Amino acid sequence: MNPFSWQACDSVDAATGALNEHTKAVAGGTNLLDLMKAGVMRPPALAHVAGLPLAAIEDDGAGGLRLGATAHNADTAYHLLVRERYPLLTAAILAGASPQIRNMATNGGNLLQRTRCHYFYDTAVACNKRSPGSGCAAIGGLTRYHAILGASEHCIATHPSDMCVALAALDAVVHVRSVRGARAIAFQDFHRLPGDHPEQDSTLAADELITHIALPDASRFVNNSVYLKFRDRASYAFALVSAAAALDVGADGIVRDARVALGGVAHKPWRMRAAELALIGETATLPNFEKVADLLLAGAVPQRDNAFKLSMARRAVVRALEQALNGTIDNTDAGEQHE
Ligand SMILES: Cc1cc2nc3c(=O)[nH]c(=O)nc-3n(C[C@H](O)[C@H](O)[C@H](O)COP(=O)(O)OP(=O)(O)OC[C@H]3O[C@@H](n4cnc5c(N)ncnc54)[C@H](O)[C@@H]3O)c2cc1C
Repeated sequence: MNPFSWQACDSVDAATGALNEHTKAVAGGTNLLDLMKAGVMRPPALAHVAGLPLAAIEDDGAGGLRLGATAHNADTAYHLLVRERYPLLTAAILAGASPQIRNMATNGGNLLQRTRCHYFYDTAVACNKRSPGSGCAAIGGLTRYHAILGASEHCIATHPSDMCVALAALDAVVHVRSVRGARAIAFQDFHRLPGDHPEQDSTLAADELITHIALPDASRFVNNSVYLKFRDRASYAFALVSAAAALDVGADGIVRDARVALGGVAHKPWRMRAAELALIGETATLPNFEKVADLLLAGAVPQRDNAFKLSMARRAVVRALEQALNGTIDNTDAGEQHE
């Protein structure tokens, strides 16, 4: 482990005053500290933000919620208002990691967790994300877990978060603050495609602190939303492919609104409004669900080992939409205790 300084921040001003290119925020530490132990990241200074008064989950007065950046993933998933208004988000968070990790991990940290590309974690090989300009050992390597959409010649890594796939589908907005002021970032603009700068995962500046995530009213989706996660093991594994689907369907079977987002296929949660619009005003039927999947996956380019992701993602979208049509899946496991 390299030496680093540690500053415990007790106010948002202290945190924003501390953050810069050298001083990184650390919240639950479940990703950043692992990366530091592996020598993948070597920040010389850490600003501990977990104790900031940013853990509230609050009604916004307009049917939406504000999720504090330092609220734990478990507290967010099990919060009564989240369960009632955003069962899709609860399902997505609970599909990720393990109870212990979700108890420690925070919402802000979940958004900024880094790729699980094994070449990124292996400091003995080239990685443009870890060391810009060094090359990409994943391209031409073992690519079972890699991107099929939006990749570049410099990086084929995927974004690993489950929570973010649901937040993308729910049109979340990320609120951030720095000494320069506050700004709001639409979720679709928060994470980036790799392009020429795969070392940049998001559009957050080095001196910006995530304060909260705003969720607009999504009551029309409450009864018809699903998060599906396909993975190598039943638990404690990242998604090969995941799909968030939410439908607003009239009594006549016509779709009034639809949301679909894919995880495990790109450098960011993959959502395309044009694909959703193709369903709006149409009947909620299998051929129309298949059309959404085809539009969403148009332009997909599999790597050597992950062509299976194409058919898996197509089936995930169709199945998620079918299941959403039949109701909302609750994976909170009524017997599960959250300590
Ligand atoms: C074994 C294991 C299995 C896992 N499985 C899954 C899984 O299946 N699905 C899944 O989605 N996730 C999974 N995770 C990832 C886990 O969800 C993340 O590690 C966690 O959400 C990160 O949150 P944290 O608070 O610990 O972040 P930290 O490690 O503290 O920070 C992560 C990043 O966020 C930045 N950051 C944190 N808070 C802020 C803030 N307020 N403002 C600005 N920057 C901030 C930090 O600077 C850092 O870059 C797994 C993790 C482990 C260790």
